[in-house]
Amino acid sequence: MTTLVWFRSDLRLADNPALAAAASRGPVIPVYVWAPEEEGSWPPGAASRWWLHHSLAALARALDRQGSQLVIRRGPADDALAQLVAETGADAVFWNRRYEPAAVAREAHLKRSLPGAQSFNGALLHEPWTVATGAGTPYQVFTPFWRTLRSIRPPQAPLPAPRLARPPCKPPSLRPHDLGLLPDVGWDGGLAACWKPGEAGAADALDAFAERSARYADDRDLPVRPSSRLSPHLHHGELSPRQVWHAVTRSAGAAAEPYLRQLAWREFAHHLLYHHPASAEHPLRPGFGRMPWRDDPTALAAWRQGRTGYALVDAGMRQLWQTGWMHNRARMVTASFLTKHLLIDWREGARWFWDTLVDADLANNTLGWQWVAGSGADAAPYHRIFSPERQAQRYDADGGYRNRWLGDSHRPPPIVDHAAARTRALAAYDAVRFAGSG
Ligand code: FAD
Repeated sequence: MTTLVWFRSDLRLADNPALAAAASRGPVIPVYVWAPEEEGSWPPGAASRWWLHHSLAALARALDRQGSQLVIRRGPADDALAQLVAETGADAVFWNRRYEPAAVAREAHLKRSLPGAQSFNGALLHEPWTVATGAGTPYQVFTPFWRTLRSIRPPQAPLPAPRLARPPCKPPSLRPHDLGLLPDVGWDGGLAACWKPGEAGAADALDAFAERSARYADDRDLPVRPSSRLSPHLHHGELSPRQVWHAVTRSAGAAAEPYLRQLAWREFAHHLLYHHPASAEHPLRPGFGRMPWRDDPTALAAWRQGRTGYALVDAGMRQLWQTGWMHNRARMVTASFLTKHLLIDWREGARWFWDTLVDADLANNTLGWQWVAGSGADAAPYHRIFSPERQAQRYDADGGYRNRWLGDSHRPPPIVDHAAARTRALAAYDAVRFAGSG
């Protein structure tokens, strides 16, 4: 009774339902298939690839220590998995579900074509179809979604890492290096300095955060104070949300509530993407299809490079470039600046984040951008146009965040005037709103 376990965004041994179920049947062959061409128009970006390389290497080492072996192959996934079934004589293939549209379609196909195919929930507290309104429909608005999620039984306790029986064979495997995930030009020094990809690094990060999690509510809006920074570990599945939920609840008790609510935004994002699979490409509010976005490559380049002349925006964009991560407050301010002050399509921003974030996640990124642009289901009111200067006074009063990321570099003059940009954005947003179908 040998089982192939197909790893994807669940690069961990603990609280891994597919792996635990497979180990309870008998020997396990752990497999990773590199198939970026199967991710629709969202193959992993450069920062995600960097993370993936290191996370795969860490997983391979952890399996080695148990006398097991991570088998790495290239896609297409269905060919690679079918081939491995033939090579190993496995009678079942298990995996943890993903919820992005391309992954949902692939899994449906594999369920029909592979022997003993079975999937599990390892990525979410509650799956998108298990949380519904009284009328049985998906939620569009976060607060009632959260209320319902909170009223469901708490997520079950995380599973321990299983003990793995020696595999019956060790099929040929590529090494992580063979996948060419690391950059040719070494821009990744900043990433290596601030992250430790892999399950052990994730566990250390969770322990460190759990200890200070009771203070999360006081600090979470201040970009100079690190939030949990668990997002890349969660995205790559080095941690499960159940592990996070229980660790933080254990440590902070009732004070964990604001953090759990934030974790539920991740659930909500997956709920929305699952029920609106086109939302990564198209605005959820149809009227926004007519938004008069501007084509302005010079302004877009200035935004990407952190040269807009608005210090909080530029600091955020440089934190992103140097570390592969940006604080949530800075994500909101930089995204608002692109879509409202520059009137550039949110999809341009979502693409840049996709390539540069180590936590780039189709569900969370889509929700974040649609929310800020005002085109989302539960969007910020369209007339809310952040003033980057007022945001800076409020959330970075002593300039600590701006100084950290801008240092004494030359600060260019603003590329747009705030008042004029605000008037232009309001006119464009009004035109869409009054066009009716928004
Ligand atoms: P914490 O504040 O410590 O929160 C804990 C966890 O909850 C996070 O790790 C994350 O998994 C989840 N979470 C928190 N806030 C959100 C949120 N608003 N939406 C969804 N999940 C949330 N998050 C990503 O993981 N990947 C993305 O690609 C991404 N793109 C974004 C783009 C924009 C324009 C915006 C406004 C937000 C985006 N976010 C994204 C959400 C949020 O900014 C990050 O999850 C958060 O900053 C990660 O840091 P943290 O782990 O310290 O968060």
